[in-house]
Amino acid sequence: MLQFFKIEDPNIKILDFSTTVIDGEIRNVIKVRLSYPVEHCPYCSFSTVIKNGTRATHIRLGELRQERCEMELWKQRYYCRNCQTTWGATTDLVEENHSLSHQLKHGVMAMVREGMTTKMCHCSASSVARIIQEFITPKRRMAGLPKHLCFDEFRSVDHKMLFICCDAENDHEIVAILTDRLTQNIVDYFLNRYSITERQRVETIVIDLNTQYASFIRQLFPNAEIIIDRFHIIQMAGRSLDNARIQLLKQIKERRCREYKVLKSQWRLFHKDEDQLESAKPVFLRGIKELMPQQDAIDLILRKYPDFARVYETYQELQSALKQRDVDELNSAIFAYENTKTTMDQTIRTLRHSAHYIANSAKYDYSNGPLEGINRKIKNLKRSCCGFRNFENLLRRIDCIRA
Ligand SMILES: [Zn+2]
Repeated sequence: MLQFFKIEDPNIKILDFSTTVIDGEIRNVIKVRLSYPVEHCPYCSFSTVIKNGTRATHIRLGELRQERCEMELWKQRYYCRNCQTTWGATTDLVEENHSLSHQLKHGVMAMVREGMTTKMCHCSASSVARIIQEFITPKRRMAGLPKHLCFDEFRSVDHKMLFICCDAENDHEIVAILTDRLTQNIVDYFLNRYSITERQRVETIVIDLNTQYASFIRQLFPNAEIIIDRFHIIQMAGRSLDNARIQLLKQIKERRCREYKVLKSQWRLFHKDEDQLESAKPVFLRGIKELMPQQDAIDLILRKYPDFARVYETYQELQSALKQRDVDELNSAIFAYENTKTTMDQTIRTLRHSAHYIANSAKYDYSNGPLEGINRKIKNLKRSCCGFRNFENLLRRIDCIRA
């Protein structure tokens, strides 16, 4: 029985075992006795020690078949007739005056590290929070800054946006989480913790498009190349493509024409990589209820609306340039573009503005992919744990997660 819980203390003997149901929860209780002979008093070292009754304590054990298990531990008390000291028998099963066994705590931590809910542990939320506090000391700084960083943000419990930074390589360790994303606070954070020599060693930093980070990265990390995350570039261009498509839809008065139907129902085709479109085999296109090759449907639109065709081609060029990591193609897509009076104009203006950083996204392999993974886990955590009232607890839980 005791082996099930990996209890190897030879001084522990089973007295009884019982199973009860309390509030619909099964509770297994093992009644045990902890006792061993004591020759000399640990306080005065006289051999005047006598046994002095027992005292019961309750210890939470890890679960067995997903059921709550407890130990009713009867500890031997001792008394020294010489110095009149009393004390109890000790075991390494549990810390003195604690009721959660080491084994239970390790079980909880294993789940926390996976970003899982700890409901299964039959432990209260505050117990879990306390266990995490005991095991994890929030780090003030890392031993050294990684050479390649990712900067991003995520939404916290009360819809505030937080700043997050992680290692772009290796195990994607979280470097920093800040409670806001104000420039001043981010700058102070790195200035206060890392020397200029350490910061000079940072080689690249991935950021997303619409952030102010680029403005202070020069100052903080003088040798770092800024990379705009590839996914964000495509996302922004994709939004412009959609806007242009909707703009065009509004201009078409005749709703029964094929062009209208293609634009309205086949929006996915426009986002699809040109090279992957079906150009020979006719497929049934829902919405227009016709059999035709996907390429033909696209061509139908592009031939009739040259301005939209330019938006579409720009989107496709950006996508393929980033996929092939072709800096020249990327630059030509950005600089050869002529205005079409759609939101693509604005997007291209933004891209031109940070053309150097955009080119880096084709030049380097780094992306904000690692942070997307961490962000997904944070989202899961917030959902599976029914939200966190206490922000510190959320941060600690995030700190435990590895991407
Ligand atoms: Zn004594």
